[in-house]
Amino acid sequence: MKAVAPSETAEAFAERQAKALRVHAQLCAEYGAPFRFFSTKDPLSELMSALLSHRTKNADSHRAYQELRATFADWDTVRDAPTEAVQHAIRACTWPEQKAPRLQAVLREVSNRCDGGPCGDLRFLGAMTIPEARTWLETLPGVGPKTSAATLLFSDLRRPAMPVDSHHHRVAQRLGLIGPKVDEKAAHVLLADLLPPGWDAQQVYDHHEALMFHGQKCCFYQAPACARCVVLAECPFGQARLGPAN
Ligand code: SF4
Repeated sequence: MKAVAPSETAEAFAERQAKALRVHAQLCAEYGAPFRFFSTKDPLSELMSALLSHRTKNADSHRAYQELRATFADWDTVRDAPTEAVQHAIRACTWPEQKAPRLQAVLREVSNRCDGGPCGDLRFLGAMTIPEARTWLETLPGVGPKTSAATLLFSDLRRPAMPVDSHHHRVAQRLGLIGPKVDEKAAHVLLADLLPPGWDAQQVYDHHEALMFHGQKCCFYQAPACARCVVLAECPFGQARLGPAN
């Protein structure tokens, strides 16, 4: 079921969908899609990596992940290790004192759901529907829609679930693909509903990456470069900033 706001007509929803596809085409061309997947992790490793990456620079969360893997033999060992040892291994990321117990809580819950056996690698999520897999993940402690989508899309499962990070969210708001008060969590449903249901993982990945790159390279949080933006014609925020001459 599509997430049409109560006040939105079917025509307005169709126009948002059409705009999303025009923006997709323009930004994919601008940034050189198709984009190469950056990860080949199994889904459990991708989940751990995503939890480490919360509000952390990529380079720092990568270092934390690498050290965690180098320190412990497998995820079961991480689960059962002294929390201080896990915290030390991930010290390169932000808030290791919060993330270490979080990782272990998630690993314990995964084990509980697997009848207390070894954690496995969550590959069984590939046999579920995407809503089922996302619900399974989002009922783990501290796992929200961005992490569940990242686990399904970025891991070697390659399922077409779309994460929305802060860049993607900001660009979508400014373009009017979602309202100005829609938060990141709600944006996951509203933005996914704009995509054709038959899109594969590469297309969903390209959409996410293209909007994210645009936020990183042009639509900056402060002082977006609207005058050189390839989607200015689609963007009420940019047009208002630049004034009537544009
Ligand atoms: S016109 Fe400006 S605000 Fe709009 S998407 Fe482009 S850079 Fe962002």
